Amino acid sequence: MLTPEDGLNQRADASVEGEAPLALPMEGALLTPIKMRLVFLGSPGVGKGTQAKRLSKQYSVPQVATGDMLRAAISKGTAEGKEAKSYVDSGRLVPDHLVIRIVQARLLEDDMRNGFILDGFPRTKEQADALFEMGVGIDKVLNFYLDEKILVSRIEGRRTCSKCNEIYHMDYHPPVVVGICDRCGIPLIHRKDDKAAVVKERLIVYQKETAPLTQYYEKQGCLFHIDANGSVEDVARRIQDACRF
Ligand SMILES: [Zn+2]
Repeated sequence: MLTPEDGLNQRADASVEGEAPLALPMEGALLTPIKMRLVFLGSPGVGKGTQAKRLSKQYSVPQVATGDMLRAAISKGTAEGKEAKSYVDSGRLVPDHLVIRIVQARLLEDDMRNGFILDGFPRTKEQADALFEMGVGIDKVLNFYLDEKILVSRIEGRRTCSKCNEIYHMDYHPPVVVGICDRCGIPLIHRKDDKAAVVKERLIVYQKETAPLTQYYEKQGCLFHIDANGSVEDVARRIQDACRF
């Protein structure tokens, strides 16, 4: 756990004399001298959401999962949600400007001051540039990689709870009662995004739009590659070894 004694959660207006320089030269109004501002990169099915949830609990920093936020906005029927819905319904990607607006609003909320884990953002070069322009410093970018065949089987076996967003897998992480969320007791859904025909398309889009971001962050010296094969615990250990939080 990060505690105030670690000196990691001081606000930008506090005296920070003697602080080590941050990994990235992203100086800006929101910059705070903390170490847990992470971006998780990796194709759909790589397991980064599971790891983000885990780290988020462990260090009490929020997970900012763009997919969950978009789905929540859609189900609440907010202005952004209504706009996003028209894209999702027709199988198109939600445009950058809309995703950026939603993430930016979230990053300004109070619970972000000790850090965050961005899960699913940035997804394009345009989003990465927008994050930079927001003046939000990023300490580490973790790039999760996995063989494509394993990816496809991981995604197709996924089942999601529409209420709490918990993700299960029919083989690797089944609920106690088949097809029912352990927490909410309601039937799990097989999201359209996770069906075979859409999975291949998502992987192609990832290769084209998001994979190049690894070079973008590599140049900034804050990129860590994480082998995402194996159990949740195996991968969690690799994250700890690579990042030494
Ligand atoms: Zn649930």
